[in-house]
Amino acid sequence: MIDTLRLSAEEAIALVERKEVTPAELHGVYLGAIAERNDELNAYLRTVDTVDADATSIPIAFKDVISTRGVETTAGSRILEGYVPVFDATVAARCKTAGLTLLGKTNTDEFAMGSSTENSAYGPSHNPWDLERVPGGSGGGSAAAVAAGLAPWALGSDTGGSIKQPAALCGNVGLRPTYGTVPRYGAVAFASSLDQIGPVARRVRDCALLYSIIAGRDPRDATTVELPAAVELPEGDRLDGVRIGLPKQLDELTAIEPGVRSAFERTIELARELGAEVGECDLPLSFEYGLPCYYLVAPAEASSNLARYDGVRYGPRVEGSTYREMVERTRDHGFGDEPKRRIMLGTYALSAGYYDAFYGQAQRVRTLLIREHRDALSRFDVIATPTSPTVAFRIGDKSADPLAMYACDLLTIPSCLAGLPGLSVPCGLSDGLPVGLQLIGPQFGENALFRAGHVLEQALGFDPVPIRLRSEEGA
Ligand code: GLN
Repeated sequence: MIDTLRLSAEEAIALVERKEVTPAELHGVYLGAIAERNDELNAYLRTVDTVDADATSIPIAFKDVISTRGVETTAGSRILEGYVPVFDATVAARCKTAGLTLLGKTNTDEFAMGSSTENSAYGPSHNPWDLERVPGGSGGGSAAAVAAGLAPWALGSDTGGSIKQPAALCGNVGLRPTYGTVPRYGAVAFASSLDQIGPVARRVRDCALLYSIIAGRDPRDATTVELPAAVELPEGDRLDGVRIGLPKQLDELTAIEPGVRSAFERTIELARELGAEVGECDLPLSFEYGLPCYYLVAPAEASSNLARYDGVRYGPRVEGSTYREMVERTRDHGFGDEPKRRIMLGTYALSAGYYDAFYGQAQRVRTLLIREHRDALSRFDVIATPTSPTVAFRIGDKSADPLAMYACDLLTIPSCLAGLPGLSVPCGLSDGLPVGLQLIGPQFGENALFRAGHVLEQALGFDPVPIRLRSEEGA
């Protein structure tokens, strides 16, 4: 009997290696779990029933922004409905080389724009801890799938928090890697200077293992580099000598819910008991200017990246009497409200006469954020904050208010702008819903994040199985 709610990726790999189960059988077990629970979760947009003959390992799910040869890839948008890539993204190819089998493509906010999956053209995903709540976004489908035992692990993409925030809201572990360590070739582009692919898992060690599979230079993505050091699977149970910086600005952030704050503070207390040196660091600009800076840079890049959807190259077309009319109708019909909002914001910010005041200014602020993170990380090994200011909110609560939705990423965005790695690890419950701890490290600091995250994960003993699914265990 395989209990997909409890099985870690590492344990699953061991089962396959000991030949207790074949890759195809294990794939079938997960498809069974998907058949049972996906209707209520809408975590997967589509599944893949066949297993490659040369598969040697366990299944995986991909957020639907990752191109997969022969498997429809929509980025959660109508404008890519029916689009079947003729090539694999580099990360997909690397997973294949590692013997992994593709279980399916998971739901996402349209073009990864959002914090709840409510912007998906294919309906929202639901949080396995409470079906009336969002799983976070944009990678809510991957997070919900992993939390509900519908995949041992998954890939997401993170522009301003789309791996870390859903991981926090669903009780998973999620890594946004250092910019440039994981190839973006074949990932549907949102904001190219921010987009990063990364792992979602139920355990820190699984997260590190998957990162080791996808990371490393790719000649097809000129922004990638070779990792300076090999990925280490974290071990140990102490944090002696680890210097943890707490931004002093956290105290003033009223957006942080009391339940989130207390779970976070208990975790920091635990880190101290485990030997960490905890001190105060200063990020004076990050929480004040991070969001506005991001909402100029990201839409500016998005408006340029989304120009390619013209009814000629990809997806469905709405005919018109002229070329221009065809393009207009295709884009009007194919894009939902959020991409349209961002295209308008971005083209405005980039337009002649406004460029310096908006985009140019945002780029200067971005440089300041890079500097203040560098200063803080010269004195500390990691910076710790809650990942999300709130636990999972109710579906519909923020969907009519774009600014409230944008504010979900208050704590995840600054380090994304600085290109730094961030790990979200579950650190407790508030009102029966998971709270995430965010650990930020210096460039290429993933190993240190994995180590600290692993030690805290072991000491906290957080149970990643959603409470409402625990009764089914062993059934
Ligand atoms: N929620 C943020 C946005 O809407 C971040 C999304 C992401 O990281 N892809 O842009």
